[in-house]
Amino acid sequence: MEDYRIQVYGHDWAQRLLRRAIQQDATRHAYLFLGPEHIGKTTLARAFAQALTCENPAGDAGLGACGHCRSCRLAAENMHPDHRFFAPAGNQLVIDQIRNIVREASRSPVEARYKVFIITAFERANVNAANALLKTLEEPSASTRIILVSHQPSGLLDTIISRCQLLRLRPLPERIIIRALREKTGIAETDALRLARLSNGRLGSALTMASDPSAWETYNQRIAAMLALLEVRTADRMAYAREMEKEGNIETALQEWLLWWRDVLVLQNNSGALIVNQEHMSELTRLAENVPQNQVRRFIEAIMSTASYLRRNVNRQLALEALLLKMPGSA
Ligand SMILES: [Zn+2]
Repeated sequence: MEDYRIQVYGHDWAQRLLRRAIQQDATRHAYLFLGPEHIGKTTLARAFAQALTCENPAGDAGLGACGHCRSCRLAAENMHPDHRFFAPAGNQLVIDQIRNIVREASRSPVEARYKVFIITAFERANVNAANALLKTLEEPSASTRIILVSHQPSGLLDTIISRCQLLRLRPLPERIIIRALREKTGIAETDALRLARLSNGRLGSALTMASDPSAWETYNQRIAAMLALLEVRTADRMAYAREMEKEGNIETALQEWLLWWRDVLVLQNNSGALIVNQEHMSELTRLAENVPQNQVRRFIEAIMSTASYLRRNVNRQLALEALLLKMPGSA
């Protein structure tokens, strides 16, 4: 018999908490799943929705959905009439979308016990839209469950957060990413390990890189851009910092830079540790031979402290400019 359970990798504590809430008939009306991008928040929300509407919830695996009933199958195929998904239209979640949700939330489920709404990228709800949802969060109908998903707590109203049960999800451990990659794509263990490191605990990114050649191309372009920075003047580095800030993928870039320079250090020390960027051995070797090891170490430390500043909401562009000044090179 086919198993239609929506599989969630990692986030075990959250899976247990939600499963128990269903088993004890104690689920809350509204949840907020918060955490970095591509770590599986929406997958967890879909699996929770599936378990909430399962006809024979049973067992202590995952979120407790049976994986075999009609409702579970429809959920896995994103066809369940009582599961409703909302994502921002363009850049914003607008009031018309929320009005639709509010209207639908007041109606009874079509066939399941609950009607479940999953609203992704909720940080993009503008103030009017968020306020329009408040009343529904305050006085929900008994058969409505709302799951808000967001990677940016600073974009959310306190009044929204306080009306939800908050689940803070974290990037996944390396071993879980490796297992997921091996099971879902069948790639070799060493490739899986490299992707796990590059993805920095974000399974979604690791899966994209495993399956999409253009993701590698983009990665190689970002690495090439970083290498070009080694040769340019300070003013050009500052211009690049502004560019990166605008594109908004600083965290990803910093993680890539960190792994890159660690590779350089591994080569300088001949430590035999895994080289993540095996496809770039010639550039790595050139740097290992030409950049003094103390500069490499200093830059690695600077990348790590910049990453931790960024988590504390400092001025991103200033932090990045300061980092680029510490980059080895001819500047
Ligand atoms: Zn089921």
